[in-house]
Amino acid sequence: KKVLIVGGVAGGASAAARLRRLDEDAEIILFERDDYISFANCGLPYYIGGTITKRERLMVQTPEDMQARFNIDVRIRSEVIRLDAANKKVLVRSQSRGTYEESYDALILSPGAKALRPNIPGIDSERILTLRNIPDTDAIKGLVDQKGVQSAIIIGGGFVGVEMAENLREQGLNVTLVEAAPHILAPFDTDMVVLAEKKLVAHGIRLILNDGVKSFQDLENQVEVTLASNRKLQGDLIILAIGVIPDTGFLKESGLELGPKGHLIVNERMATNLPHVYAAGDAVEVLDYITKTKTAIPLAGPANKQGRIAADNIAGLNSTYKGTQGTSIIKIFELTAASTGANERTLQRANLPYHVIHIHPVSHASYYPNAYPMTLKLIFGADGRIFGAQGIGRDGVDKRIDVISTVIRLGGTVEDLTELELAYAPPFSSAKDPVNMAGYVAQ
Ligand code: FAD
Repeated sequence: KKVLIVGGVAGGASAAARLRRLDEDAEIILFERDDYISFANCGLPYYIGGTITKRERLMVQTPEDMQARFNIDVRIRSEVIRLDAANKKVLVRSQSRGTYEESYDALILSPGAKALRPNIPGIDSERILTLRNIPDTDAIKGLVDQKGVQSAIIIGGGFVGVEMAENLREQGLNVTLVEAAPHILAPFDTDMVVLAEKKLVAHGIRLILNDGVKSFQDLENQVEVTLASNRKLQGDLIILAIGVIPDTGFLKESGLELGPKGHLIVNERMATNLPHVYAAGDAVEVLDYITKTKTAIPLAGPANKQGRIAADNIAGLNSTYKGTQGTSIIKIFELTAASTGANERTLQRANLPYHVIHIHPVSHASYYPNAYPMTLKLIFGADGRIFGAQGIGRDGVDKRIDVISTVIRLGGTVEDLTELELAYAPPFSSAKDPVNMAGYVAQ
C-alpha cells in the first residue's frame, strides 16, 4: 500500500507515525513545503521571548530522525500543488527534483492553516510579520534582536497575539495589544477575561479594545497604524495575529468538498468526499462537541488525534473523531487561564439554555504555604449536563479544567463532579477539591 501525506507537522507527522506502527510494509511518503517537519509551533512565542533558549529544541523531530525511526520517505521543500483524485495522483513541486507526479493508494491532507493577512492599505510592509513557522520565528527574532527595536504593536488578542505580547514584553519592548472585539481571548466570557486583561496591563502592556486596524503606513524605521477610531500608533514592529484560514488553496479545483472558508469537509472517520482521501488538523471542519454544530478549532491536540484516526482508517481499523471541545490554556505572566467546552456566547448562538455558577476556591489547603485563589466558572444545562468551564488563577487551574474537560467528554453532569474522588494532600488540593465544590454549588 502506498500512502502519501501532505504536511509534516501535527496532523501529518502523527498520521505517518501511527500508520507505520499499524503497517510495517506500507510505503509512506510525507511531503512538506518548508525545511522543517514536526516542529513545535506552540513553542515559537517562548523562543522569541527567550524562555526557550535553544533554537534546535523547537525541532521535535528532524526529517532524518523520522526517516530512520519510522522508515518514512520524508520529502522537504516539496509542495503538493495539485490533486488529481480521479487518477489517484498528486503533482509535487520540489526544489531538488523539479515538478513530478506521485501516485497513491491513500492520501492524507494536513496542510494546516495560515495567518490571515487581509487586504488593508500598507499591509505589505516588511515590518508587519505573522507567526506560523520557523522562518517566521527567525524573521521576528531577527528584528527583535536588532538594535533600536523598542516597540511592538500586536494586532489581535487571540492566543498567539497574547502570547506574543507577553513574550515581547519579557524582552523589554514597549508593547501595545490591539483587539477589535470588546475583549481578548474569544474562548473566555467577559467576566473571566477581565482578569487576564488586568494582568497584561499590570505588566505594562497597553491594551486597546474595540478598535480594529484601518491602515498601515511605513515611516522611516517604524510603521504607523491607523485604527478604525482614527487613533494613530507607531511601532518598530507589528505582529499581525488576527486569525487563520485553511491552507487549502491548492485543492480548490480538486473536487474536494470545502466549507465556506475553505475548510475540508470530512466525516467521523476523517474521510473526505473523494475516495481514499483523508484530512486532518487545522484545515478541516469539525463538529463542536457540545453544540453539535460545524466549526473549525485550530488546536494541536485535535490535529494530532485526527491524524491518528485518519491513519487508523487507512490501515483498516474503524476509529472515529467525535468532535472538538476546544479545551485550551494560556499563560498570562503569573496567571493561567484555561477553558473547555462552550462559553455563554456559543450557547446563546446555539439556543441552548444554561445555568452558570462562579466559585473562588484556593489552589490547595489554605493553611499550607503558597495557596492562591482562583476563579472557576461552570456552565451547565437544566438536566445538569456540563457544557463548559473556565478558570483563571495562579496555580492549579490546568488540573481543574482538565478534570472538568474529561467529565464533559464522558457526558457527565454536575452531580458527577460532586462524586469525583480526586487526589488530596494539603500541598496539592483540599479535601473538597474545587471541582467537587463547583459540583456542590451547581447542584
Ligand atoms: P500545521 O502544523 O500548520 O502543519 C501543516 C504543514 O503543512 C505546514 O508545515 C505547511 O508548510 C505544510 N503544507 C501546507 N500546504 C502544503 C502543500 N501544499 N504541500 C506540502 N506541504 C504543505 N495549539 C495548541 O493546542 N496549543 C498551543 O499552545 C498552540 N500554540 C500555537 C502557537 C503558534 C505560534 C501557532 C502558529 C500555533 C499554535 N497552536 C497551538 C496551533 C497548533 O500549532 C496547530 O493547531 C497545529 O499545528 C495544526 O496542525 P496541522 O497539521 O493541521 O497544521
